[in-house]
Amino acid sequence: MRLKDRRVKTHSCSEIHGELEGQEVCLAGYVRVIRDLGGIKFFILYDRDGEIQIAAPRVQTPPEVFTKIDQITPESTVWVRGRVKRTPQAPRGVEVIPQEIEVFSRASVPLPLDPTGRIKSSLDTRLNARILDLRHPKRRAIFKIRHVVTNAIREFLNSRGFLEVQTPKIVATATESGSALFPVAYFEKEAFLSQSPQLFKEILTGCFEKVYEIGPIFRAEEFNTNKHLNECTSVDIEMAFSNCDDVMRVLEELIIFTLKKTKELAEKELEVLGRKLEVPEAPFPRYSYTEVLQILEKKGIRIEWGEDLPTPAEKALGEDRGFYFITEWPTKTKPFYAMPCKHDERVTETFDLMWKDLELASGGTRIHDPQLLERRLEENGLNPENFEPHLRHFRWGLIPPHAGWGLGLDRFLMVLTGEQNIRECVLFPRDRHRLVP
Ligand code: ATP
Ligand code: MN
Repeated sequence: MRLKDRRVKTHSCSEIHGELEGQEVCLAGYVRVIRDLGGIKFFILYDRDGEIQIAAPRVQTPPEVFTKIDQITPESTVWVRGRVKRTPQAPRGVEVIPQEIEVFSRASVPLPLDPTGRIKSSLDTRLNARILDLRHPKRRAIFKIRHVVTNAIREFLNSRGFLEVQTPKIVATATESGSALFPVAYFEKEAFLSQSPQLFKEILTGCFEKVYEIGPIFRAEEFNTNKHLNECTSVDIEMAFSNCDDVMRVLEELIIFTLKKTKELAEKELEVLGRKLEVPEAPFPRYSYTEVLQILEKKGIRIEWGEDLPTPAEKALGEDRGFYFITEWPTKTKPFYAMPCKHDERVTETFDLMWKDLELASGGTRIHDPQLLERRLEENGLNPENFEPHLRHFRWGLIPPHAGWGLGLDRFLMVLTGEQNIRECVLFPRDRHRLVP
C-alpha cells in the first residue's frame, strides 16, 4: 500500500511509542496547543483515546509543510504523515516529525467555547456546542463510563438468562396515570410516545419468562429539575414466577456487578473525573414506607401516611445513606398494576431503590389476576375498556405471576460519575427548553 496516495490512519495517537522510532506513521485527529518558536513549530494532535506531540523543525520539515502549520487553528481536524522520533523532552517521550499535513476541516476562530475548560462556559452554552464540549476529557470520560455501564448491565442480565427485547415507542394508552404523555400525530388515530415499556414487558413474561429492555422513555414533565428529562433511557426487566424480593435481589446484584466492572474497565475515566467508587455489599438496607415516615418524624419532618415523599423529605432521609430500598408503598402512590400486600391491602409489594436522596429505580410484584387488574384500573380513575388489548392476555390466562423494575440509566450515571445534573450524563438532553441539538 502506498500511504502517500490515501489519507489513511495507520495508528491512533496512543499507539505511538518509542519502539516505533524511525517508522513512518499516518495519524488523524484534532489539534490543540499550537506553538511557533521560529526554528521549530509544535502542536498537539489528539484523537478519541490519546494525544501525541507533532514537532516540525525547519531543517527537517518540507517547506510547504512548515508553512502549512501556520494555517492550522485550535480544534481543526488534520491528517499527518510523519516519522516517529524518541525525544525525552516531549510530553510522552516521543513525537512525530511531519512530512505531509492535510487540514480536513479548519476550525473557526473564535469557537463558541474553550474545550480545554480553562475558560468556563455555562451548561447552556456547552450543550449548544455539544460536540466541541465533548472534546473535553472529562465529558468524554462520562460517556465512556456510560458505554461500560450499558455493556455491564447487558452482560449481567444475559448471564441470568434474560432475553433482550425492543418494544414499541408509539403507543395507544398510558401506563401510569398522572404522568403526562406526549401526543403523536398518527394518521387518523390518537397515539402517544411511550412512558415505559411496562405493559409490553409484563405480557412478554407469558412467553419468554425473563425479558429486559434498554430504551428510551418519554415523559411530558413540565418542570425543569436536575434529575428529570423529557426523554431518558430506562433499563427495564420483568421476570415470570417471581416476586418483589426476587427482583430486588437481581437489582442489587446488578448494581454491584456494574460498579465492579466500571472500576475495572473505566479506571482511567474514573481517575479523569476524580471519582472513587465504593462497591456496596448486598443486601442493601431495606425500610418500609411506614418505617421511613418514623425515621423522618425523628428528624422533625411529618408526612401524612399515604403521601409521596416530597423533595425535602428525600434530602433528609438520604443525607446519611448510600444505596437503600424503600418498600411497601401505599397503594395510592403506585400505579394500577402494583400488587397489594396480602397482610395489608393499603400497601403494595413495591420498592424504590434510592441512592442518597435520588430515586434510581421503582419496581415490585405485579397483579396477574384480570379481575383485580380491572378493579385497580377503576380505582385509579382509568377506563378498563381502553386497556382491553392489554387485559385480554390476562383474561385468556396467559400471564404468569411476575415482577420487575425500571432503572433510570441516566440517573444511575449521575451516581457513578458524581455529576449533579442529569444533563451532563446524556449526549443531547431533551428538556422543556431544549430540543436542539
Ligand atoms: P420521579 O418520582 O423521580 O419523577 P418516577 O417515580 O415518576 O420518578 P418511574 O415511573 O418509577 O419514575 O420510572 C422508573 C425510573 O426511571 C425512575 O426511578 C427514574 O430513575 C427514571 N425516570 C423516570 N422519569 C424520569 C425522568 N423524567 N427523567 C429521568 N429519569 C426518569
Ligand atoms: Mn418511581
